Amino acid sequence: MTTAPRSDRSPLRIAVIGAGMSGLLSAIELERAGYRDVAIYEKAERLGGTWRENTYPGIACDVPSHFYSYSFAPNPDWSHRFAPGDEIQAYFEGVARRFGVDGRIRTGVEVTHCAFVDGRWRLALSDGTTDVADVVIAATGVLHHPRLPEIEGLDTFAGAAFHSARWDHSVPLDGRRVGVIGTGSTAIQITSALVDRVAHFSLFQRTAQWVAPMENPAYTDAEKAEFHRHPETIEAMRAEMARALTAGFANALVDADSPAIAAIQAACLANLENNVADPVLREKLRPTYRAACKRLIISPDFYAAIQHPDATLVTEGIERIEPRGVRTRDGRLHELDVLVLATGFRVDRFVRPMQVTGRDGVALDDVWKEGPYAYLAMCVPGFPNFFLLQGPNGPVGNFSLIDVGELEVAYVLQLVEKLRSGACDEVSVTHAAMQRFDAERREAAKRTIWATGCRSWYLDADGLPTAWPWTFDRFRAETAAPRLDDYELRRRERA
Ligand code: NAP
Repeated sequence: MTTAPRSDRSPLRIAVIGAGMSGLLSAIELERAGYRDVAIYEKAERLGGTWRENTYPGIACDVPSHFYSYSFAPNPDWSHRFAPGDEIQAYFEGVARRFGVDGRIRTGVEVTHCAFVDGRWRLALSDGTTDVADVVIAATGVLHHPRLPEIEGLDTFAGAAFHSARWDHSVPLDGRRVGVIGTGSTAIQITSALVDRVAHFSLFQRTAQWVAPMENPAYTDAEKAEFHRHPETIEAMRAEMARALTAGFANALVDADSPAIAAIQAACLANLENNVADPVLREKLRPTYRAACKRLIISPDFYAAIQHPDATLVTEGIERIEPRGVRTRDGRLHELDVLVLATGFRVDRFVRPMQVTGRDGVALDDVWKEGPYAYLAMCVPGFPNFFLLQGPNGPVGNFSLIDVGELEVAYVLQLVEKLRSGACDEVSVTHAAMQRFDAERREAAKRTIWATGCRSWYLDADGLPTAWPWTFDRFRAETAAPRLDDYELRRRERA
C-alpha cells in the first residue's frame, strides 16, 4: 500500500474523525485558521457524539450549561442551569449550522483503518472507499462503548432490556415496573426522571454514591433577555464558573488532603443526613469511601426520588436475571417489565475499534496493550501527525470537556502549523518525552482522591487513576504552547 506524497504546493489535507463536541470544534477552528482541505467523518447519521447517543430520561449535563458551551458560541437561551440533553444536542447542531460545518460532515461513514504510509495517513472507510490525509485528528470520544454486565441469565429476561446509551424509546414506561442496574451519574438521573411515572421503580445498587446537592433552576425570560442584550453577562458568569470549578473542584481532586475535598465531603454528608429520613435507607445509601473518589454525583433530587413510595433501593447482590426479573442473593425475585443497564462504558477503547498503524507498521493496539496512554492526552510516539482529542490521561471528569477540547485543539493547531509552514513534514512526540510524562503522571496519580480506595472507571487494570493527576491550571499552562524539545520534527527527503 502506498500513498502519493503531497506536493509542496498543495494544501495540507486534514481528516477529522468524529463529529461530536471535539470534532465539531476541530472543524470550526481549522476553518478559522484557513485550512480548506478538511474531511470530517462521522460513523452515525447525525453529529452530536455523546448527546446524540444518550437519550435516556432525565439526561442533563452536570456542568453548568453556560460553561458547557464553546467560548465562541455562548447561548443566551439555555433553559436551565444544567440543560437537558436534547437542548445540548440542538445547541451543537445549531453551532454546526451557524459555522457552516454541518454540510461538510460525511455522516454514516466510519473510518475503519488509519495507516501511516510513505509519510501520509491512508484511511479505509466503511463504505469501501479510501482517503489520504497529511494530518489525522481523532475526535472519537471517551465514553461510547457500552459495558454490559456479565450477569447470568441476562439474555433470558422476557421484558425489554437495554443499555442506558441505547435507550429503546419504543418501550412504554408509564405504569410499568422498571429496574435500573447501576448507581453512576446516568442511573441517578434516570431514577429522578422515572419514579413518578412508573408503577414501581427498583434501583440495583452495588456501591453507594456520594451525592452533591445542586439545584437546577430554570432561567427566567427576563434573565434570558438580559443575556441577549448584554452578552458580557454570560462572559462574566463563565469566568466565575471557571474560577469556582477550578478552585473548588478540579484542583481539589488531585490533592486528596485538600480542604476543598473535605468541604465537598461535608456537603455530601450533610445532604445524606438531612435528606434521608429512614435510618435503614440512610445507612444503605452511606458510602464507605471518600467523596469524589468515584465521580461525584450531582443531583438536587435523587434522595427525594429514592424515598418515593413506589421506589425500592435494592442492595442485595444480583444472583442472576430470570425471565420475570432480577433474582437477588437473598432469594428474592424483583419482578420487572423493563430492565435498564446503566452499567457504564468500556473506557479504555478511545479510537478503537479503528485500527491505527503508525510509523514502521506499529499498531496502536500493540502500543496500548498494557493500557492506553498519550502525552498530554493528545500524542503517541511513533504516530506522526496523528492527534487525539480527549485522549487517555486527560482531565476527564474534572472539568468542562469543552474547555479541555478548546485547549487541545489550539495546541494541535500549533503543531499542524509546523507542517503548513514547511518547518517539517512529520511531527511526533519523542519516546523520551512520553516516558517522562508517564512516569510523572503515575507518581502524581497516587496523591489524587481517585486513588483513595474505591472502584471506578478512572482506574486502570492495576488500580492506578488514569486521568490527568495535576491541577487544571497546569493543564492550561502545559497546553498553551508545545515544548518543541519534546517533539521530533522530521523533514522528508525531496527528490
Ligand atoms: P458509571 O459511572 O461507570 O456507573 C456504572 C454503574 O453500574 C456503577 O454504579 C457500577 O457499580 C454499576 N455496575 C456495573 N457493572 C455492574 C454489575 N455487573 N452489577 C451491578 N452493578 C454494576 O457509568 P455511568 O453512570 O453511565 O456514567 C459514566 C460517566 O459518564 C460518568 O462518570 C460521567 O463522567 C459521565 N456522565 C456524565 C453525566 C453528566 O451529567 N455530565 C451524566 C451521565 C454520565 P460500581 O459502582 O459498584 O462499580
